[in-house]
Amino acid sequence: MAELGNPKNTIEILNKYKFVFQKKFGQNFLIDTHVLDKIIQAADITKDDFVLEIGPGIGTLTQYLCEHAREVVAVEIDKMLIPILSDTLSKYNNVTVIHQDVLKLDLNALVQEKNQGKPIKVVANLPYYITTPIIMDLFERHLPLINITVMVQKEVADRMQAVPGTKDYGALSLAVQYYAKPYIAANVPPNCFMPRPNVGSAVINLTLHTQAPVQVSDEKLLFQMIRASFNQRRKTLVNGLNNSSELPFSKERISNAIKEIGLSENVRGEALTLEQFAQLANALSDHS
Ligand code: SAM
Repeated sequence: MAELGNPKNTIEILNKYKFVFQKKFGQNFLIDTHVLDKIIQAADITKDDFVLEIGPGIGTLTQYLCEHAREVVAVEIDKMLIPILSDTLSKYNNVTVIHQDVLKLDLNALVQEKNQGKPIKVVANLPYYITTPIIMDLFERHLPLINITVMVQKEVADRMQAVPGTKDYGALSLAVQYYAKPYIAANVPPNCFMPRPNVGSAVINLTLHTQAPVQVSDEKLLFQMIRASFNQRRKTLVNGLNNSSELPFSKERISNAIKEIGLSENVRGEALTLEQFAQLANALSDHS
C-alpha cells in the first residue's frame, strides 16, 4: 500500500472509497510527511514501544507508527474508516484497529491485555472538538503512560504550556502540568491537513512525571479549587473559592488559609503556581 503522507495517495484512497468527511468527528487528515516525521521524533518512538493511536483516520500516521514502533493499537470511532484501514494497513502485522469511541473503551484493560500493564505511549492527531476531555481522561484513568504526543489546536497547546501570570494560564495549564511536563515540538499550519482546519495547530509532547511535582492530601479538592479559581478569573482567589458550590469553606477560613501560606488575601488565582495551589489545598484540608 502506498504511503499516505503523500497527498496524491490520500486523494486516491478517498476517491476509491468515496469517503465523505464527517465534521462531527473532527476529521482533518494529515498530508505532510515532515509533520509526520516530527510527530514520530517528538514521541521518541522506537521498536521497544507499544503505541495507542487515537483516531487513525485513513491510517496516515498509523503507517509511520507501524514502521517505528513494536506494536500499535488504533482506536477509531467512524465505522466508514474501518474497511479503509484494513486496506491501508494491510502490509503491517503489528497493528490492531478497534472500532470504538476512545472515551468508552476500557483502556486500562487494553494495556493489561496487550502490553501486560507496562507503560505505553499515546500518539494522535486529535479531533479538536474533544481534545481536552480525551487528554484529561488519559491522565485521570491513571493509565501506565510514558508520554502523550498529540496534534492539538495551537491555542490549546499554548494553554497547556502556560506559566502563572500569563493570559493563557488557567485550569488546563495546572491540570496538565500536575501530571506531565509539556513541550511544544512544532507549529503546524492549516495546509498540512485535508480538509484544512480554520485554526493553527501544534504538536505537543506531554512527558508524564515519574514523581508527582506536588504533594496533596486531597487531589479532588485541589482540582475543585483550581476550577473554582479560574471560573471567575477576575475575582480575587478568596471570592472565587467562596462562591464555588463545590467547596464548603467559609470566607474567613479561606482567607486565613491564604495568609497561612504567605500570600496576600487580595491575590487572584491566576497568580498562583501549582505548588501554591497544593499548599492551599493542604492548608484547607488540614483544618477540616
Ligand atoms: N490520524 C489521522 C490523520 O492524522 O490523518 C486522522 C486525524 S483526525 C484529526 C481525527 C480522527 O479521530 C478521525 O479519524 C475521527 O473519526 C477520529 N475520532 C473522532 N472522535 C473519536 C473518538 N471519540 N474516538 C475515537 N476516534 C475518534
